Amino acid sequence: MPKPNLVWDQHTCLPLRPDANVELLTRYARPGGCFTSVNVGYSPHSGSEVHALLDAFQHAVATHPLLDLAVTVNDVRSVTTEGRIAVAFDLEDSAALGDDLDALHVLAQRGVRAMLPTYNHANAAGCGCLDTDDTGLTTWGRDLVAEMNAAGVVVDGSHCSARTGLDLCDVSEAPVIYSHSCLQSVWQHPRNITDDQARACAATGGVVGITGVGIFLGPNSATLEAMVRHLEVAVELVGVNHVGVSTDFAFDHADFGAELAANPELFDDSYIRWGPIEFMPPEVFLGLDDALASRGWPNDDITAVLSGNFMRVAEQTWPRAS
Ligand SMILES: [Zn+2]
Repeated sequence: MPKPNLVWDQHTCLPLRPDANVELLTRYARPGGCFTSVNVGYSPHSGSEVHALLDAFQHAVATHPLLDLAVTVNDVRSVTTEGRIAVAFDLEDSAALGDDLDALHVLAQRGVRAMLPTYNHANAAGCGCLDTDDTGLTTWGRDLVAEMNAAGVVVDGSHCSARTGLDLCDVSEAPVIYSHSCLQSVWQHPRNITDDQARACAATGGVVGITGVGIFLGPNSATLEAMVRHLEVAVELVGVNHVGVSTDFAFDHADFGAELAANPELFDDSYIRWGPIEFMPPEVFLGLDDALASRGWPNDDITAVLSGNFMRVAEQTWPRAS
């Protein structure tokens, strides 16, 4: 069974500190190369804090021998054909923009290639997945999606409310993704998405990224078996061309636990009831191709889910030239 040329992880989490060690990303190293989208902030972060993280991560990635920045999809190809790790960035929540849509274009120029408008709770753009009232995307949120389409930033429904996610799919002229969201039909969790959300995402040409977090996959078990179950149900639901993967891996578990403790208003019991959250380490995640092959998946389907589908969305969305 030939290995896929590339693995595409649509969301991973270094500690959100400028001194975070990007060497950690070399845990994704594999002969066929890997792309990973590194988070540069979520709802508590200001614009200046996001830019400080971008400054630090960009410099550290660009000067690391095994890592390189990917501005375009062609950059992903050229970096990873050498077996190295290509890195772009994503932002969780639009609060860092303030009310300035021009700030989005600056972030796009600096390598932010995906953004979810709302993180768990309502903001100026729309509602979050932990809100009890779900009024969907706001007027400003609709303007934001238009700017994201213009700037080449992929519209991401993860962490948004169900209606906000459906509204994103209605409004966006480019494919909408769920970068790191599992399925409610497999495991009930407020961070997981409904079948309707998954279908609407696929109808835009988008991709549902099944993610390796224990509390989203099931009762806090981040196993390949649990991930394969979500993937197989997702493929049955929306087709193999609309399913992808991400790790949402917190490289520093203590740091992530400190984030939860420091921001209790951002999370709820669904995050903490199982104790420390289990994450799927990159070394386990990179065995997913073998796990799918052993389940009898055709190689083309494995390639589509492990890299081809998210890469197609990037081709259709990201800026084409540096
Ligand atoms: Zn997240």
